[in-house]
Formats: sequence, C-alpha cells, structure tokens
Amino acid sequence: MTLVDQFDPGDPRASSGGETRLYRCAHGPDVDYTAMARRARTLWRELEEESGEELLVECGLAWFAHREDGWEAESERTLAAHGIPAERLDVASAPSLYPSFRGEDLAFVLLEPEGGVIRAQRAVRALAAQAARHGARIVRSRARPDGTAAVLEDSTRLEGDLVVWACGPWLGRLFPDLVSLSVTRQELLFFDGGPAWRSPGLPGWCDYDHARYGTADIDALGVKAAIDDLGPPLDPDAELADEAPTEQQVRAYLHDRFPALEHARLIEARSCRYELTPDSHFIAAPHTEYPTVWLVGGGSGHGFKQGPPMAERLAQTFREGTPLPPRFALGERQPSTSMRTASSGPAT
Ligand SMILES: Cc1cc2nc3c(=O)[nH]c(=O)nc-3n(C[C@H](O)[C@H](O)[C@H](O)COP(=O)(O)OP(=O)(O)OC[C@H]3O[C@@H](n4cnc5c(N)ncnc54)[C@H](O)[C@@H]3O)c2cc1C
Repeated sequence: MTLVDQFDPGDPRASSGGETRLYRCAHGPDVDYTAMARRARTLWRELEEESGEELLVECGLAWFAHREDGWEAESERTLAAHGIPAERLDVASAPSLYPSFRGEDLAFVLLEPEGGVIRAQRAVRALAAQAARHGARIVRSRARPDGTAAVLEDSTRLEGDLVVWACGPWLGRLFPDLVSLSVTRQELLFFDGGPAWRSPGLPGWCDYDHARYGTADIDALGVKAAIDDLGPPLDPDAELADEAPTEQQVRAYLHDRFPALEHARLIEARSCRYELTPDSHFIAAPHTEYPTVWLVGGGSGHGFKQGPPMAERLAQTFREGTPLPPRFALGERQPSTSMRTASSGPAT
C-alpha cells in the first residue's frame, strides 16, 4: 500500500490537523452514525493499544438541551436503544460538571460519560506510523488524478487495484464534476481558565441550538470555545490566518454559560477548514467512470471520530461488496438549510 500526502501527517492545514476533536455518539435519530461512532471507540482504542499513545480522552460530553423533546431527547432514545451510556441531568445538578456553569435557559443536560475528546493530530501521526510499521509506503507529494492512476509531482504514475482519493477540503477541486464541497474558515479560541479548568474529567460540551461547542483545558492548550456557524468561504490552498473575529460572540456565550471565563485571557485563536457537503453527509463512492477509483471525504465538521469505522466499512465493501449507505453516493444532494437542521446533527 502507498499513502500519498502533500503534507506530513497531522499538518494543521489538513482538516484533521487540530490538537483535539470532540468524540460523541449522539446523532439525534440517526442510527447509522450513532452505531458508527460507537464502533469508532473500539477502533480508536485498538490504535491506542498498538501505538502506545493515549488518544481518546474519555472526559464525557455534555449536551445543553434547550427543549424537553428536541434533538438531544431524540439522541437519548437512540443511545439507549444501542446500549450506549447517557445520563439526563436536571439543570440544578449540572453545575457540578464544571468549575463555573449557568443553565437557567436549559431544559436539561444530556451527558455521554463515554464521550469526550480525541487528540486528533497525535492520532493521525500514530495512524501513519502504524501504517508504515505494517508495510505501507508513505510518500510526500501532491498528486493529481489521471484516469485510474495518481500522478505525483515528479510525474511518477501510481496504479493499483484500488486508488482512494481521501483529500479533505481538496476533494472538490480534484473532482469538480463529481464532488460539491463548500470549504469554510472556522475559528477556534483557547482561553486561560486557570488550574480549575485543567482538572481531569471535565466534559467537552455542545450547545446544538446555539451552535457553540468546546472543551475544558486539555494538554495545557487552554479552554477551547468555538462558534459552529459556518464561517466565510476559504480556498483549500489559502493561508490560515490566526485572527479572532468571533471573540466577542464567544465571550458573550461564556458570560451566559461559564461566567468565570468571560474575561479569561485569550491564549490563542486558530483557524481551520470545514469541508462540507450540501447535506452534511459523508462521501464514499466509486468514480462514475473508473470503478477502481474511490472518492472519500465530506467530513462536514463531524468526520474525525468516524475515520476508523469509515475505513473499516470501505475495506468490507472492497473485499466483500458490502453496500454503503446510499446517502454517501455521488450526485445531487438536497441542501440542508443549515448545520443546525442537518440530520447528521451539529458539526463536531
Ligand atoms: C475546526 C474544526 C472542528 C472540527 N471538529 C470536529 C469534532 O469535534 N469532531 C469530529 O468528529 N470532527 C470534527 N471536525 C471534522 C473533521 O476534523 C474532518 O471532517 C476530518 O478530519 C476530515 O478528515 P479527512 O481525512 O477527510 O481530511 P483531511 O484531514 O483534510 O485530510 C486530507 C489529506 O489529503 C491531503 N491531500 C489533499 N489533496 C491532496 C493531493 N492532491 N495530493 C496529496 N495529498 C492531498 C491533505 O494534505 C490532507 O492531509 C472538525 C473540523 C474542523 C476544521
């Protein structure tokens, strides 16, 4: 097997290239993504065992529900049906989760105790190292498709039984007739919350209806808080400027939810790219002309955790012809009006 990438593993210009990504199984009523995310936990644990790296921080993931019977309640039912641990906390008991918390506007908090955070960059590096250990050849080059082949910058033509183009934000540019992706600039802010926010076991969090998410201070990066509204379009090759235009909006949310953080020092603002399909569902499908060429991606802000089970499903499809969900196919997609209404749930 040959793995080609224009960057080194974990490069911040790739969509996977952040230090942390949230890990959750809640997906509203969506059984397939829920089961896939649960399977991901086992597969990430396997990678941890093989690599000796601690990749999955099982600090829990808290959903701030604004309605008794909204997306979170649907998630609760789906999680229960799959035997995935989830606890409904009343608002009065939720402050025990964090050093500072305010929840008068909430109906309840849904806690996934086995949710949490994946050390994303480290995971990608561990994965590449394990692939090499198992015999994969890793080549650094920019590739372009030519029929069934991948052509590298030095004109080397790579052919194979299968060629998989899993190219994140660049996939649409490589296959403009087949793939429609919007690439947007998203911003992550890291605040100095002090030692209280570095205690282990503080859950990651998601406020789906208000499109906000974040984590406690993991690995001394600072408390992460971000807006999940879609940012401005950004070319896949454009510089990622580390600006903080969302700072006031994020601070306003911190004031309402985690008041002790409202004036916390901003340590860093970081940009990255979402690669979004019109309906926020993934892409995993053969090229329309070349059946041995596959296009995979469209992570749409929720793809990181699902990498290992997606690879597992693809391997089964390649070996045994197991069908993939039709919603991963190429072709027209019904646009969802926003990430809030997408059936895949929020980004993260
Ligand atoms: C700010 C932010 C927050 C997110 N939060 C979460 C979260 O909490 N939970 C979650 O599960 N997901 C989250 N996601 C989504 C998730 O990170 C992405 O969907 C996922 O990492 C995409 O992985 P990928 O391998 O498809 O793409 P990438 O990580 O972008 O990898 C594609 C690779 O292809 C290479 N490449 C592209 N074109 C070429 C070429 N022509 N030749 C050679 N190499 C090429 C690139 O260099 C890159 O390394 C988030 C994303 C962002 C940006």
